[in-house]
Amino acid sequence: MSKSKLTQSVHAGSTGDTLYGGVVTPIYPSAAYDYESEVLYPRYFNTPNQKVVVQKLAALENGQDGLIFSSGMAAIMTSMFAMLRQGDHILFQNDLYGGTHHATLSELNRYGIHYSMVDTDDLKMFEAAIRKETKVIYIETPSNPLLKITDIAAVAKLAKKHGLITIIDNTFASPVNQNPIDFGIDIVTHSGTKYIGGHSDLCCGAAIASEKLIAKIRASALHFGGSSDAQTCYLIERSLKTIVLRVRQQNKNAMALAGFLQAEGKIGRVNYPGLKDHPGHRVARKQMPGGFGGMLSFEVKGNPDQFLRRLKLIRKAVSLGGVESTITSPAKTSHAKLTAAERKQVGISDKLLRLSVGIEEVEDLINDIKHAL
Ligand SMILES: *Cc1c(COP(=O)(O)O)cnc(C)c1O
Repeated sequence: MSKSKLTQSVHAGSTGDTLYGGVVTPIYPSAAYDYESEVLYPRYFNTPNQKVVVQKLAALENGQDGLIFSSGMAAIMTSMFAMLRQGDHILFQNDLYGGTHHATLSELNRYGIHYSMVDTDDLKMFEAAIRKETKVIYIETPSNPLLKITDIAAVAKLAKKHGLITIIDNTFASPVNQNPIDFGIDIVTHSGTKYIGGHSDLCCGAAIASEKLIAKIRASALHFGGSSDAQTCYLIERSLKTIVLRVRQQNKNAMALAGFLQAEGKIGRVNYPGLKDHPGHRVARKQMPGGFGGMLSFEVKGNPDQFLRRLKLIRKAVSLGGVESTITSPAKTSHAKLTAAERKQVGISDKLLRLSVGIEEVEDLINDIKHAL
């Protein structure tokens, strides 16, 4: 099979209809299978539609195997718990997706698992936080909502030196733009609710890794039970066939919008790794060969609420990665639980807005923003 992502996105894993010769994989909703051979069962993560999606994702991420989950959090927490036991320590980069941050704070200590959250800007500091109990390093790049870049290859090298497992949340980049396994990362997770689904109409998650590590995660996953059903898997397969087209258009639109915003007097700081003056630009160029993604954030100089109210095309909504452009105020959504002082410390002002760029005509998006300003 061709290595081209465009071809893989359409063909990898898809079986077609072998009974009638149809070109599309049928939906196999059965939750009861003959037990004489391998027992297929949705919660065993081995039903036909689950397998198709996993093969497509593994192909797009250059991984050997994977698991498709009911949500991104199911993928993240199951992967994490599968690698850890009581007394272990896990090292996180400190700017994490809100859900992962809260899950860590509220769950890990209860199971006797210790953690630290450390900035990855200075990898010497990051390395200094490794203890003899440390088993896992967990990173996320580009980060939410400031689009900070962590050097994936450098972290993977550090982990190998200390014999640690690495997990990355690759949601923001999507498998089209960034393949962390190529840079030495062990486990790649996704909130498939975002770019993988791509139409803001389904919830799923994924983990992609070596066959050996996936077998280990699967052993825990069938206990925790966060599996995905056949109908959703069918929709995911359908979505994946256009992920390369969608994300390439989103990359292009986001790059154009970032340039426009930077030149616009009524806009303050613009955070987009594709911009030459972004502090992570050089690293991003190396580790995001497919493009810099469809996510960016910026500060408005005027009243952010008024700006948001005036937008007509760009919808005010949480979540991201859909074909439609959406915008959020991190201070009011993902980071609402932090105090104003805490937000200031991490660089998230009340004027910061996060834009998930869709596949619309970019001139229409620019005009919408111009009008709202
Ligand atoms: C949305 C998101 C998650 C959580 O995924 P769900 O599908 O909502 O469970 C994890 N990480 C990132 C970066 C996300 O954007």
